[in-house]
Amino acid sequence: MPKKIQSLSGMHDIFNSRYDYFEKIREVSSRVAKEYGFKGIEFPIMEETELFARGVGGVTDIVEKEMYTFKTKGGDFVALRPEGTASVMRAYIEHNFYTRPQPTKLFYFGPFFRYERPQAGRFRQFWQFGLEAIGKSCFVVDVQIIKVISNIFEELGIKTKIEVNNMGDLKCRKEFKTVLRRYLKKRSNLLCSDCKRRLKENPLRVLDCKQCIEVKSEAPQIIDHICKQCRSDFKNFLEFLEELDIPYNLNPFLVRGLDYYTGTVYEFFLETEDEERMAVGGGGRYDGLSKILGDEERPATGVAIGIERIILAMEKSGGDIIEKKIPDVFIAQLGDLAKKKALNLFEEMRNSKVDVAESFGQDSLKSQMNRADKLGAKITIIIGKEEAVEDRVILRDMNSGEQEKIKTEEVLKEVKGRLKKNKNKD
Ligand code: AMP
Repeated sequence: MPKKIQSLSGMHDIFNSRYDYFEKIREVSSRVAKEYGFKGIEFPIMEETELFARGVGGVTDIVEKEMYTFKTKGGDFVALRPEGTASVMRAYIEHNFYTRPQPTKLFYFGPFFRYERPQAGRFRQFWQFGLEAIGKSCFVVDVQIIKVISNIFEELGIKTKIEVNNMGDLKCRKEFKTVLRRYLKKRSNLLCSDCKRRLKENPLRVLDCKQCIEVKSEAPQIIDHICKQCRSDFKNFLEFLEELDIPYNLNPFLVRGLDYYTGTVYEFFLETEDEERMAVGGGGRYDGLSKILGDEERPATGVAIGIERIILAMEKSGGDIIEKKIPDVFIAQLGDLAKKKALNLFEEMRNSKVDVAESFGQDSLKSQMNRADKLGAKITIIIGKEEAVEDRVILRDMNSGEQEKIKTEEVLKEVKGRLKKNKNKD
């Protein structure tokens, strides 16, 4: 027998109750985003490698280690998208979105790819929902984005904490990098091998290294080195968070793993008793990205949340978020002629917006009745061999167990009448 083929490591199927959560997250997140004026965007799963190499930054884990890249048959260098922001900015520039009223507010929901070591809540293909607001610089938009995400989490029944920091604009960050590099150089023997290299290329990344805790703990903090404008923006941002009753903690080491961030940055962490902190989302301003991609400077801000981690949190919290769909009617049948009639009746019910269920693959009437019971159907329509010939059906009230035989042509009217009566009783 040929070998059974399994999904790739770090890539997974979503089905059963997880699919219900997945669908719920997608529905809630896009609905709430639309309520705040965000419009949906879909963009390709593959882009030129250079988009991410330039956009996300060469000295980031994502580009250095985690990107799925390959050469196409035509000789182009392409990458599976590791994140959404660079693509959204590419689309913004390509389609001249700046000619519309600003900011352009967009949301997306889709799969992303990073060649990471698979572990709990970390996959190689994972889904993100993201928001981007491009074209206007105002901390109110950052606060609004945080509010949108907080509302989504609340509706999904998961509790999170927000950590915030400010990474300075491109100018004050450059100055801070010099200060930080000086400090780190003196302690370079204590740094891990990755950070020794980062020290030269991007010392900020040392601040979110999980190994170099000791060196980090006494390192200069970016917040003490940002310019007047960044400081005032950050102060306003925090005041607005307070105004909207959004609790937060300051985290001076929060620098986010991507080069394009400037100014305010933040992450959402699950509120759990576990030692291990689980980030469910992160974002911030990225005013420098459009220039890196060859356009003029466009102020921008955005966030992305991780769908699999939200599903895990929803499973843990055990909240009854998913409504169980109870069919109004179940159609059971016995024999070939009955099956044909049942198929037609199903279509008739569906076209008339009656919630109808079936189990046409089953031949035994007993197992079909069990299924109708399990689903909680209010009425079951039974078409046996005899009824099929007579062009009649049996209507069974699943609550009282009472049965009645009626003509097939009358069944829709009768069912609708009974459902209406039931509704009025409720
Ligand atoms: P990032 O784009 O790295 O800021 O990620 C935003 C959010 O996406 C994170 O907070 C996670 O919830 C989620 N995420 C990032 N990488 C992964 C991954 N490899 N597997 C699952 N979720 C991820």
